[in-house]
Amino acid sequence: MDICAYSFEEYLNMVKSFHGSLAPGLVIGGFMVDLAGKNLPEGEFFDAICETPACLPDAVQILTPCTFGNGWLSVVNFGRFAITLYEKYSGKGVRVFLDTEKLNRWPEIRDWYFKKKKKSEQNKDLLMAQITEAGYGLFSIQSVQVDPEKVRRKKKGPIGICPVCHEAYPVNDGDKCRNCQGDSPYLNVVSVDSK
Ligand code: ZN
Repeated sequence: MDICAYSFEEYLNMVKSFHGSLAPGLVIGGFMVDLAGKNLPEGEFFDAICETPACLPDAVQILTPCTFGNGWLSVVNFGRFAITLYEKYSGKGVRVFLDTEKLNRWPEIRDWYFKKKKKSEQNKDLLMAQITEAGYGLFSIQSVQVDPEKVRRKKKGPIGICPVCHEAYPVNDGDKCRNCQGDSPYLNVVSVDSK
């Protein structure tokens, strides 16, 4: 049993080092990326879409050249457990999703996904055993046509200096940067001298 170019064991080790733990969603995600890769339409260059920010983006980043940073991976937060690989010019792609009907054959996976059990009640070994046994059996596949405009990262456009923080920012965002417009994630900012 291989996951893309790796043995299953190798993949599990990569998950642990990249993600920090052996998350069940990331093991499932490995099978999804592998299955999508086996069902690609014609083409040479493929981009990826994940429909949830949880787990799946890491599976794509471990197993394909598509990363969030290089822009070949887009994450849309629909909360659906699905990935799409698509040819970047034609938009033709393959979408692999967690099929809720197929999930019924694997009660431990179903109860985990639907959060039916408290963490303390979960049987992690049984969950992993069912995930391994299920393999591709949890998914269905669709052929899709992607609208690249919907997922493509917007060009930044011209860069200016924010009059409030004096950092460089895309002037298309307005007369000051988004941080200084009130979208800041920081409650408090204090300058420090480097150690
Ligand atoms: Zn600013």
